[in-house]
Amino acid sequence: MPGIDRTRINARGWRHYNGAQDIEVAVLMTYAIDGRGWLHGVARKVSPNRDARPAGVGVEVLVIHSISLPEGHYGGPDVERLFMNELDVSPRGYPDLEGLRVSAHLFIRRDGEIMQFVSFEDRAWHAGVSRCEGRERVNDFSVGIELEGTDHGPFEEAQYRSLVAVSEALLHRYPAINEKRVYGHSDIAPGRKTDPGPHFDWAQYRDALRSRVDGMRGGEG
Ligand SMILES: [Zn+2]
Repeated sequence: MPGIDRTRINARGWRHYNGAQDIEVAVLMTYAIDGRGWLHGVARKVSPNRDARPAGVGVEVLVIHSISLPEGHYGGPDVERLFMNELDVSPRGYPDLEGLRVSAHLFIRRDGEIMQFVSFEDRAWHAGVSRCEGRERVNDFSVGIELEGTDHGPFEEAQYRSLVAVSEALLHRYPAINEKRVYGHSDIAPGRKTDPGPHFDWAQYRDALRSRVDGMRGGEG
């Protein structure tokens, strides 16, 4: 399928047509990953909080997180600052986060906008002490995706659309991943982490991803 004209798509993933009347038509966003592990067409900032994956270890699972800074406040710059070690950790800012060195590969804002901080080929520092499929150090073999949100409320449709679209690109690029090998942070660090929380709709996400992947395979068949 050829790419779509991104200049005509707004942040929610809709394409505007100007005709006798303005209408909006849902289109499937598609993303491609370049040879160095970066998504085409999304904003990029390179986090210092990254390193190489262990030799011979590739991307096998996705880990979904949620974050907001301040908690429950959306649209500000502080999550970006956290991943870039630029957060104000003075007593006026976030003194509890002083010295924290974390990142995620992707951050998806409430309007669906995606920002990439670490190449998928590299290891981002999102999972912490963790265990998945019987293996520890989940950062070694995962991609971490942060949704702007909290444990206490639902996520936006635009966020699911972006998440499904990038998940499809990741499954395509890293075939060890499949729709069952997607975990919440709470699954891999139980008792320590609760995100993305009870409002993340796993069924909606998995169904949408499965239908896109099936459609892609059908289209190739
Ligand atoms: Zn998390």
